[in-house]
Amino acid sequence: MTSVPTHPPARRLRRLLTAIGQWFDSDYTPDGADRMRAEEDRVDWMRCIPFIILHLGCFAVIWVGASAFAVWAAVFLYVVRMFAVTGIYHRYFSHKTYSTSRLGQFFLALWGATTVQRGALWWAYHHRHHHQHSDEPEDAHSPHVHGFWWSHIGWITSRRNFPTDYSKVKDLAKFPELVWLNRFDTVVPFVFAVGMWCFGWALEVHAPGLGTNGWQMLVWGFFISTTALFHGTSCINSMAHLMGKRRFNTSDDSRNSFILAIICLGEGWHNNHHRYMSSTRNGFYWWEIDPTYYGLKLLSWTGLIWGLKPVPQSIMEEAERADHHASIAAAQKAALVHPEVSSLKKVVPAAAAIAVATASAAQTTVPRKAEGPAIHRDVTELSHDNQGRTAAQGGAVADQG
Ligand SMILES: [Zn+2]
Ligand SMILES: [Zn+2]
Repeated sequence: MTSVPTHPPARRLRRLLTAIGQWFDSDYTPDGADRMRAEEDRVDWMRCIPFIILHLGCFAVIWVGASAFAVWAAVFLYVVRMFAVTGIYHRYFSHKTYSTSRLGQFFLALWGATTVQRGALWWAYHHRHHHQHSDEPEDAHSPHVHGFWWSHIGWITSRRNFPTDYSKVKDLAKFPELVWLNRFDTVVPFVFAVGMWCFGWALEVHAPGLGTNGWQMLVWGFFISTTALFHGTSCINSMAHLMGKRRFNTSDDSRNSFILAIICLGEGWHNNHHRYMSSTRNGFYWWEIDPTYYGLKLLSWTGLIWGLKPVPQSIMEEAERADHHASIAAAQKAALVHPEVSSLKKVVPAAAAIAVATASAAQTTVPRKAEGPAIHRDVTELSHDNQGRTAAQGGAVADQG
């Protein structure tokens, strides 16, 4: 590590050059990554220029116009890349909820990189940190601590959140190909954007009836689709701890939301996920729609992935107790608001007696803080796993050779 200049102009110039260097090499931290992470939160505009360009690029639609093909391509690319965020960056790299081969893992990392949400290791490092410090001051994107906008978009503009802490993702950092993709995290998005332009150009030449072209496909397939994808994903950071219902009394304020589950292909069942993060599915019941899980199930039939982890019976029983408790509480509330429910008790006293007996029999207390370490254990173990555990033990890449 070199010494840091003390004069303000020299320091500013150094920050500027560092930010530009990081556009191309996200591990370029001449002042040391630890020192950067220890800084106060503040927006680094220079570092964010590519991110601002991504948003501004959407306005180019004024010049390139629209065609049905380009719009549907944007929707399709939103869905397949949201799946990459949820099914790959989240449920594989962050939580290792299923297994794959080393080659399969590389393919998943490439797919994930097309989402333009930086490398898999950076993503997993921040996400594991979120689970370990949910809604505490250290949580980089808690709406309760930092407010809505900071947790939605602000936190990724802050210098302290740019570097990847490889010591927290040792299980992933042992693969040089993943580290390379993480370090040069603009390569895949750049190739993807150029690919979109070439695809549009080829369609213009070979299928002019579709009415699209290179620039239009670049704007719809890359800029608009990727910007929507970013904000869709960010809804989980900003709203999944604000909007919806809490089934489990976890030590954070995570919630289950049907709307967020639709936007983010099943990630809206966030309270379920905070209670038990090691299962492949976030929707615990058939009515908790979880398209990411259905997609992963399909992928497992191809042989690309395997070992999808179920929700343990003990967690399902806990869910049933919590739901039962919630319905009894709702019925009692309804009886206060609607006296006719109370008068019903006089008509069918036996039913009322059964309901009361069921309510008292239910074990409704769900552990709170006391269970914190157990809840967080999964990510803590993953973070320090450097021994190449087998799939049966919870590691994800199967033994090679
Ligand atoms: Zn959360
Ligand atoms: Zn998670």
